Amino acid sequence: MSNTLSNTQIKDEIVKATEHLFRSGVMSHSGHANISARSEDNEMLLSIEGQVRNLTASGIARVTLEGVDVDHLLDPTNTEIVRMHSEIYKLRPKVGAIIHTHSPSLLAFALAAKELPIRYEALLRFGQASNVPVAPWAPRGSDESITSIINCVIENEQTNAVLLANHGVLVFSTTPWATAALLVALEEAAQGELAAIALGGAIPFPQGALKKVLESIARVH
Ligand SMILES: [Zn+2]
Repeated sequence: MSNTLSNTQIKDEIVKATEHLFRSGVMSHSGHANISARSEDNEMLLSIEGQVRNLTASGIARVTLEGVDVDHLLDPTNTEIVRMHSEIYKLRPKVGAIIHTHSPSLLAFALAAKELPIRYEALLRFGQASNVPVAPWAPRGSDESITSIINCVIENEQTNAVLLANHGVLVFSTTPWATAALLVALEEAAQGELAAIALGGAIPFPQGALKKVLESIARVH
């Protein structure tokens, strides 16, 4: 499903969503992330370097879903992450944007290889009503790593995010802004879960509540 906006407009959305993420304090301390959106030609617009602090439109390249770097702009370190994005676009036709980073509290769950439970209202609002699963670790960019992530997404068809064990998080939704909003909610949830441990632990939603939400939620598939 191609994006109805022009590539110039989509790049602008990516830049604005990225700025929002830094302002919200949910990014990796290093500024490391890779961010993409589906383009007007059903290709990807992908950040060219592994660091997106002060990202501008000139730091975003066109890459096909087969991995061809149309503009020849991708930094060699980012060629490894192309398939992590393109395979999700192929698998989920309605996904319009993908963000990978190492948000500090989500990273704690990824390092512990623990699913993020859904016990925070904002997650429901931004499209996540099931636990965030963990994809087992494999070397960055390897076939094994891509297979691990894709299998995790296939096995958890309700999820719009995957924790990458020993690494970070991958979030996907309809637009750069929606994806950024979900990432902020996920990081808040992870932070809240960890803080609640000191108070006896977070409690689940009332019985049956999540099922109702899942039936009505606008899922991204
Ligand atoms: Zn990473």
